[in-house]
Amino acid sequence: MTPARAGVDLGATKILAVVVGDDHAVRGEAKLPTPTQGGPEDVAAEIANAVHQACEAAGVKAGELRGVGVGSPGAVDAETGTVAHARNLPDWDAPFPLAQALGTALGATVRVDNDVKVAVTAEKELGAGRPFRSFLGVWWGTGVGGGLVLDGRLWRGRGAAGEIGHVVVKRDGARCPCGRRGCLEAYAGRGAMEAHARKLVKRGRKTDLFELMEKRKRDRLTSGVWADALERGDEMATALIDRAVTALGAGIGSAVNLLDVEAVIVGGGLGTRLGQPFVERIAEASRPHLFVDERPPVMLPAALGDLGGAIGAALLVGRA
Ligand SMILES: [Zn+2]
Repeated sequence: MTPARAGVDLGATKILAVVVGDDHAVRGEAKLPTPTQGGPEDVAAEIANAVHQACEAAGVKAGELRGVGVGSPGAVDAETGTVAHARNLPDWDAPFPLAQALGTALGATVRVDNDVKVAVTAEKELGAGRPFRSFLGVWWGTGVGGGLVLDGRLWRGRGAAGEIGHVVVKRDGARCPCGRRGCLEAYAGRGAMEAHARKLVKRGRKTDLFELMEKRKRDRLTSGVWADALERGDEMATALIDRAVTALGAGIGSAVNLLDVEAVIVGGGLGTRLGQPFVERIAEASRPHLFVDERPPVMLPAALGDLGGAIGAALLVGRA
């Protein structure tokens, strides 16, 4: 048997690590909260902890792994394994040599790539994207990320292709976490939605969102908190999610007009949590924007679920 590989999905709220075999089946997994204090060194140390725990669950040692792949937010230089401008991680703006730091901590070869590209590649090779030569992956979570598969290959452009979250859905619209105005992410990103909810509460509007957050012992509105609030019919949560769905429909519809992809696959924390019924609502919301509306693309939820990003990251290290 060839040695196992590890994959890490580094998210704004959690670090998910898996150990997989040649069949990509998960042999061990671990989940730790992403540090909200400190800096890149602290995040790297916690990633190493998560990998050690996943290894323990799988009954292997980190030093025996064939390698470790990491899907990271921010601007990733896949050649050097350096990550910069990871806005949702603590004090992580300057380039940090993540692959090198982790390689030293784990005694294994480490490769790093963009988190959404890694998750979209996993869907292409192992998940919902397998039947298609072309698809758009929309990763609906803290931000709205994206990835493009064209002619069977991930389209990277000059390194930043697929950023559907920063497609403009309203000129001079809401301020986006990226600093620009009217981006899709300004309406649909979980981070932007939380900021908006906090502003509405300050103005005296009522919601159960923050009470549910405290009940779950969280300090941010996670996908689970949004799902709970929707379930109990919270007015503000419902209105903000409706607004997000409308914006997603506009952004995705425009992207489909440009690219005419066969399918759109919706993943990410919120996308995965809200699942099929919301994918159908997004498809519905995109329809009025489709230029060739008699043959809309197939719209599917990501098939690999919460572990997709980590399983995809493990694909970064050589298979047998
Ligand atoms: Zn933006």
